[in-house]
Amino acid sequence: MPIYEYVCDDCKKPFEKLVMSQSEKITCPQCGGRHHKLQLSVIASPSKSAGGSSSPASGGASGGGCCSPSGCGCH
Ligand SMILES: [Zn+2]
Repeated sequence: MPIYEYVCDDCKKPFEKLVMSQSEKITCPQCGGRHHKLQLSVIASPSKSAGGSSSPASGGASGGGCCSPSGCGCH
């Protein structure tokens, strides 16, 4: 079940909503308004191409696990 993030058009506050079915009425928890925009950027982004790499940003040329050639003190 996906959680969507919305921004209320009435009070401009963001909120998240677990959507059980597409026919479900979405109302703002703050003001109860039914006008909102669906935010797509936060939730459904595949992380690999987004530039957020999990590898070390600099000096990771050796690729030797946790230890760099200069030593990290774990041995
Ligand atoms: Zn609202």
